[in-house]
Amino acid sequence: MSSSIMDRLRAGAVLGAEGYVFELERRGYIKAGPFVPEVVLDFPDALRELHREFLRAGADVMVALTYYAHREKLRDVGREDDLEAMNRQAVRLAREVAREGDALVAGNVCNTWAYDPDDPATKQTVRAMYTEQLGWAAEEGIDFVISETNDYLGEALIALEVIRELGLPAMVTLAPTQPGQTRDGYRYAEACRILAAEGAHVVGLNCDRGPQTMLPLITDIREAVDCAVAVQPVPYRTDPAAPTMETLRSPDGERAFPIALDPFGCTRFEMARFAQQARELGADYVGICCGAGPHHVRAMAEALGREVPASKYSPSMELHPMFRADVAAKDAAFRHSWTV
Ligand SMILES: [Zn+2]
Repeated sequence: MSSSIMDRLRAGAVLGAEGYVFELERRGYIKAGPFVPEVVLDFPDALRELHREFLRAGADVMVALTYYAHREKLRDVGREDDLEAMNRQAVRLAREVAREGDALVAGNVCNTWAYDPDDPATKQTVRAMYTEQLGWAAEEGIDFVISETNDYLGEALIALEVIRELGLPAMVTLAPTQPGQTRDGYRYAEACRILAAEGAHVVGLNCDRGPQTMLPLITDIREAVDCAVAVQPVPYRTDPAAPTMETLRSPDGERAFPIALDPFGCTRFEMARFAQQARELGADYVGICCGAGPHHVRAMAEALGREVPASKYSPSMELHPMFRADVAAKDAAFRHSWTV
């Protein structure tokens, strides 16, 4: 049963599933805008259920929903007093569901929006936020930590330092929002090399870009590091003209991010193909971020050669009246209404 994240990475691909904030917003449990995971305290059953859906779909890791559950963000929505309870409960819920299967539990921190590379005082602010969040997470019991959507290498290094001080394995990923480098000016592969040299166990990219524009960045990262590489794109059809979900525009020129991205969504088949391509490029931790649904995750798991609990209900289109062996007869009977 449960082995460490490092053991699992050595044994083969680890499948990640994230995007909790987007999905729970869509379901009516998180407010778009602040995107603070109030659902953790207000509707724990809703969060439990989404963890369970990802677990059944084959996710190897239950990521505690502490994304944006940091002091700065909770202050914005007037819930600073709930900070500790929210962080502890998020880990408990992830653990509870992880035990229903054989998943690991990851603590989670993200970019704080408080970091300014030109203002040394902000380093202490960021460090304090990570220290309190991850301190509570470690007390509740986590297997490793994911520090993610980092815009700055400098901020990522602070997270890494805090994780290392807790003696936990660290996965640190960058948000590839810029054409080629972090906001503090490091090429993504170079930033990953530095993170690995400073002791990160897994490095890579997550969020912002869809498969088509994230995959081309992976080869350089794979070549730059010896440690495990993670790649977790958003399931949106970004392309060279609009390389990130933030730059996607509707036909009338409106920004689609963050709550009108639906028309750009990748199918499960596109995400399955992504999972295969990521493995071919040498990625070890293959996952999905904002916009993910359990159907994507299951298709990715199956593309990696697995049968997962939700595979019981994987498609059998030969049983659909429009696709069966006797489809010619069905076509003849229904052709008019199917083709107009
Ligand atoms: Zn994301």
